[in-house]
Amino acid sequence: MRLDQLFATRNQTLSFEFFPPKNERAWYTLEDTIDQLVPLGPDFISVTYGAGGGTRAKTREVVEHIQAKTGVTAMAHLTCVNATKDELRALFDEYHGAGIENLLALRGDPPKGEARFTPTDGGCAYATDLIDLIRTDRRFAIVCAAFPEGHPDNPSRSADWDWLVEKFRRGATAAITQCFFEARPYQELVEHVTRTTGKRQRIIPGILPITDFHALERFCARCGATIPDSVRATLAPLADDPIAVRKAGIACTVAFCQDLLEAGAPGLHIYALNRSTAAAELVTALRLAGCLN
Ligand SMILES: Cc1cc2nc3c(=O)[nH]c(=O)nc-3n(C[C@H](O)[C@H](O)[C@H](O)COP(=O)(O)OP(=O)(O)OC[C@H]3O[C@@H](n4cnc5c(N)ncnc54)[C@H](O)[C@@H]3O)c2cc1C
Repeated sequence: MRLDQLFATRNQTLSFEFFPPKNERAWYTLEDTIDQLVPLGPDFISVTYGAGGGTRAKTREVVEHIQAKTGVTAMAHLTCVNATKDELRALFDEYHGAGIENLLALRGDPPKGEARFTPTDGGCAYATDLIDLIRTDRRFAIVCAAFPEGHPDNPSRSADWDWLVEKFRRGATAAITQCFFEARPYQELVEHVTRTTGKRQRIIPGILPITDFHALERFCARCGATIPDSVRATLAPLADDPIAVRKAGIACTVAFCQDLLEAGAPGLHIYALNRSTAAAELVTALRLAGCLN
């Protein structure tokens, strides 16, 4: 099902994000994760596209597999990395032929070892260009990325948010955010976009369940996300006790998601990292608390 049609019928959605497995063993792990998480009734599942643009075939394979095996709508991530516009158009044909109707249009990060993103000659320089290309094709619903704390390449958070506004203007039906860990920047982003576009756009928070404080610190250092003081104060003293930190981390994530949903977030997109336990615990706790459909 196209996500623009699905969003028209749902105030709130639940979705999971997976990445293409790197080897046969990882395939089994993903299969098991799908088996555990699909009974929770996700509205859609998204599948990432490798940083260097190298997992093109695998992304398609996993999306096709999920749709065929579970009947759940799946969305392929797609980046501008290492592809000309002609190659992207050929990929649209391939994806359409595979029954894919939804694309998450991204600029992409630079391939490993490169500090800056360099557009391919004859390709797209920004997600806005890719959105133009997909919109012209007309066969796909388009989702884009959003950054509650601003994108690290843009020194101005509000200038970055204006580019998000532009992505909506060019045809994105929704945005999914980068991970973040407190509600305020999300609320500020939503207010900015609503004020500028005159409409409450669908901006779905991307949620990384916290299970390990050291891993959280590494992740935030890499992507520029902030660890809120309250989360640090709760988790840092437990950092070397894996059971205690996991329990407290999930509790922090549940409280954060409650704040977001109470503030009117149109659902949650959970970065499941191809594992099911933390994502399932989070969804179950939020449903028991009555804040997630
Ligand atoms: C939900 C989600 C899923 C992701 N999945 C993947 C994945 O599968 N594979 C992958 O490689 N990466 C993925 N990423 C990472 C993403 O590719 C990077 O964060 C990338 O650096 C930015 O992508 P974007 O689409 O937001 O870029 P853009 O919207 O193009 O923004 C990039 C930078 O340029 C600025 N900008 C935007 N448009 C313009 C314009 N027209 N002119 C001038 N400046 C502009 C922005 O402010 C920003 O600083 C994902 C990110 C998110 C949030």
